Amino acid sequence: MPDAVSSPLTAESIAGASYIVAALMFILSLAGLSKHESARGGIIYGIAGMAMALAATIWLTIQGAWGSDQVQLGLVLLAVAMLVGGAIGLWRARVVKMTGIPELIALLHSFVGLAAVLVGWNGHLAAPELPADLAAIHHAEVFIGVFIGAVTFTGSIVAFLKLSARMKSAPLMLPGKNAINLGALAAFVALTIWYVNDSQVRLLVAVTLLALGLGWHLVASIGGGDMPVVVSMLNSYSGWAAAAAGFLLNNDLLIVTGALVGSSGAYLSYIMCKAMNRSFISVIAGGFGIAAPATGAAAEQGEHREISAQATAELLSNAASVVITPGYGMAVAQAQYPVAELAHQLRERGVDVRFGIHPVAGRLPGHMNVLLAEAKVPYDIVLEMDEINEDLAGTSVVLVIGANDTVNPSAAEDPSSPIAGMPVLRVWEAENVVVFKRSMAAGYAGVPNPLFFRDNSQMLFGDAKQRVEDILRALRS
Ligand code: NDP
Repeated sequence: MPDAVSSPLTAESIAGASYIVAALMFILSLAGLSKHESARGGIIYGIAGMAMALAATIWLTIQGAWGSDQVQLGLVLLAVAMLVGGAIGLWRARVVKMTGIPELIALLHSFVGLAAVLVGWNGHLAAPELPADLAAIHHAEVFIGVFIGAVTFTGSIVAFLKLSARMKSAPLMLPGKNAINLGALAAFVALTIWYVNDSQVRLLVAVTLLALGLGWHLVASIGGGDMPVVVSMLNSYSGWAAAAAGFLLNNDLLIVTGALVGSSGAYLSYIMCKAMNRSFISVIAGGFGIAAPATGAAAEQGEHREISAQATAELLSNAASVVITPGYGMAVAQAQYPVAELAHQLRERGVDVRFGIHPVAGRLPGHMNVLLAEAKVPYDIVLEMDEINEDLAGTSVVLVIGANDTVNPSAAEDPSSPIAGMPVLRVWEAENVVVFKRSMAAGYAGVPNPLFFRDNSQMLFGDAKQRVEDILRALRS
């Protein structure tokens, strides 16, 4: 092994340089991920940065421990952990369906939270001998790291359960829920001051339990419609949890990466809140200020009309302009390929076809854009909600393919609706609307949709992929 003291290239300096390059790659990765044209490059930067960070950290660890009796055991444990973790990660990434990505992300955030809790506990149990002022800082790092990590852990598990429909998506409305949250925060501040002065293990147990309960309650109090913001907010929390672990492990890269994830996640949540007309503070504070939705039976909405695939094909053939607004159901049905083919066929016939994409259509931001790009729909006919909303009134036919909450007029027209104020695609202003879905069931937010009963709306029931294929057959015959 090289002499770590006399050589100008010490293990620390080489690892430090690698960390700087890895951090730059993470920044380039975030920049790439901000546009779908450059997203693939962004992912490659991220993988390269993470590979470099891992290699540098392992090398630094080996150099530091070289010569000690336990280095071989440490290396074996490291290799086993990496092989097992890497194999599980690879397997999950290969088998996960596109529609299951948000809950997988939520589950991964919970691991970051759990790791931060374990690092914090280790920081307490194996506390180094430090002068009093530095010991106080160390205790604060331990306590704050465990708190953020535990909130992230249970919060992410609840998000996972809600997103995978293992737990009902309606918000939990405990009496005095805001007082519970504020009380928990006040208790955390008081416990932190106590622990910094007197690091008793029972205080760490108390804050761990408090934070586990708070994380659970914060996310359980948030309704399904706000879950996209919550997932991105938990992404931010997991970043801050990693940064806290970085302080404890004395690892600069973990601090920088955690801060990057923390701040970009918070900014993404802020953008999403603006797009959904939600108060950022109210969402991150567990639905603070959001009243319980009315629980009574949905008001009688009238009769709906049905249309066949054949009649839809005729409607489309005679249309001057068509706008397709896809939603989660298109992802479930994997209907993007026949939908892309339908757009192509209609354009060949001289129909002006465009897509209108709601920022939270599907189950993760950009979900629909990814599916349409996969099916090779040209980017220039895929427009964002704000770009297309004004044109919907002059559109001959809107095809709502597996979308529900994102086209719900009650968001715009009914102040008592749980999704009131959320901007939606105003599809009901078009001359004709055809809604593709399997039943009259509500969307993800559980809110009834008056669109289905409008005079200009017709329902085309069945699996979206099969119905679009029926329309394509009818167009060809
Ligand atoms: P919704 O989830 O509101 O509705 C989807 C519709 O698709 C349902 O009404 C369902 O009706 C229909 N559907 C399901 N499977 C099929 C199928 N095989 N064929 C045809 N139709 C089908 O979708 P939206 O995209 O409009 O809204 C997204 C919702 O998800 C919003 O509430 C959003 O806040 C939330 N959300 C968004 C996230 C994001 O980041 N984008 C993350 C988490 C949640 P039926 O069962 O009758 O067929």
